[in-house]
Amino acid sequence: MTVTGRCLCGEVSFEIEGDVIATAVCHCDHCQRQSGGAFSVNLVAHESQLVVNGSLVTYGDRGDDGGDIVHVERRFCGTCGSPIVSQLMGTDGVIAVKAGCLDDKSTVKPSVEVWCEHRQPWVDLPGMDVSIDRE
Ligand SMILES: [Zn+2]
Ligand SMILES: [Zn+2]
Repeated sequence: MTVTGRCLCGEVSFEIEGDVIATAVCHCDHCQRQSGGAFSVNLVAHESQLVVNGSLVTYGDRGDDGGDIVHVERRFCGTCGSPIVSQLMGTDGVIAVKAGCLDDKSTVKPSVEVWCEHRQPWVDLPGMDVSIDRE
């Protein structure tokens, strides 16, 4: 199955080919700040499954410790700022594509939630099979 998406302004579009590994909600503070929402919804996949048309800007997210190590490379449209994909460093090419940029979001069914210790007290999501305190 192939799903398609684009940023708000349309300069960046993308396709994800094949089945994703998981659909995960991330409650971490950084996803809240980057998305402007209470959590991010991510299609977790391998980088080889993603085809991006257009150029992305990368922010090296050093995590809460603020050290020298980049934990996540967050890529977004440089024109409209829509977050498109995060690359999880230290993994074998695992990426998290932001589900809010999909053309058809109705089929997204998150079943995993991570960083639950940062979940806002007014957020209660149904249908979660796995809840993890950290990433
Ligand atoms: Zn854009
Ligand atoms: Zn997060």
